Amino acid sequence: MTGEIADLLPELVALRRDLHAHPELAFKEHRTAGIVASALRELGLEVHEGLGGTGVVGVLRAGTAGRSVGLRADMDALPILEQGQKPYVSRFPGVHHGCGHDGHTAMLLGAARQLARTRRFNGTVNFIFQPAEEGRGGARVMVQEGLFKRFPCDAVYALHNWPELPAGTAQTRPGAIMAAADRFDIVVRGRGGHAAQPHRTPDAVLAASELVSQLHTITSRRIPPTENAVLSVTRISGGQSHNVLPSAVELTGTVRSFDADVQDTIEAAIRQIAQGVAQATGTAIEVEYVRYYPATVNTPQEAALALRAAEAAGLKASMAPSAAFTSEDFAFMLQARPGAYLWLGQGAGSRREDSPSLHHPSYDFNDEVLPLGISWFVQVASLALAS
Ligand SMILES: [Zn+2]
Ligand SMILES: [Zn+2]
Repeated sequence: MTGEIADLLPELVALRRDLHAHPELAFKEHRTAGIVASALRELGLEVHEGLGGTGVVGVLRAGTAGRSVGLRADMDALPILEQGQKPYVSRFPGVHHGCGHDGHTAMLLGAARQLARTRRFNGTVNFIFQPAEEGRGGARVMVQEGLFKRFPCDAVYALHNWPELPAGTAQTRPGAIMAAADRFDIVVRGRGGHAAQPHRTPDAVLAASELVSQLHTITSRRIPPTENAVLSVTRISGGQSHNVLPSAVELTGTVRSFDADVQDTIEAAIRQIAQGVAQATGTAIEVEYVRYYPATVNTPQEAALALRAAEAAGLKASMAPSAAFTSEDFAFMLQARPGAYLWLGQGAGSRREDSPSLHHPSYDFNDEVLPLGISWFVQVASLALAS
């Protein structure tokens, strides 16, 4: 299969590296979206721009069937200073394609090229290029703006390069594959005062310390051992001097889980613990809890199709043994439509140190897996829309 697309590769590798050198942050993917739209137009696809701000959808039809499938890639980069010596290193200091969305965009454009010239399917393929996957919910915005009403999709598929898996392999699983991501922001308020007179003010520092300890008991003591969840306090700040008790201390953290009931339990426990600590310490504690990405949940039939497509694309495909605690806004598309999300191995085998993780300053997409990702998208379309 990958032999069929060999002639496309030099241009696509060049395109991927050009995107890498010109990364753009969430909802600012103007240059990238322009390149995508004109490439799709050149192929003769019907092109729709501006959905979700910088989102682009290309529509390709073949045959007479009314069936349809959506294939999705994300286009945004991260606010990271890239470390690297490659000729195509980011030209925009502080912006880096540290999650490989340059590779995803190039692979989906490659699939559009291959499907536009072979047209070996019967129905409609919607190529969905979304903005702002990194924490800003570009997929949610596209769905809210009518993505699947304007471009009906019987099912929708996406992949993510996966440095932890060797190149040439792929995994997915039915059910949850990526976690729901929530954040909490807590403000602990005392009155503030002289550090030598602690009896005259509620101590926000002590109350915050108590809170950190107790919050970390939620996943071990409140959640059934059969469920998976993680809570991390990631920032604690307050005070400016060695002899002043601050009037407020702020805490921030993240919660990852796979089940809405578990999410409810954790949020309720955070609020209850905050209330208890406030009462015990005489402080006032405000809790803000935001659920920003739901769990990414594959439907069983589509997960099976994703694995069959991976095998047909020449990948060593297997069932993922467990879900990952990272999150993904493709979750919003999977809340709206059946579908599946695939991990495409791109690491250097067992020598994991050779493969920087996603979001690492020296991460780079592995161009060797470009043909495999293109073939997977092509096979998904062919299997979903077989004549
Ligand atoms: Zn990422
Ligand atoms: Zn990503």
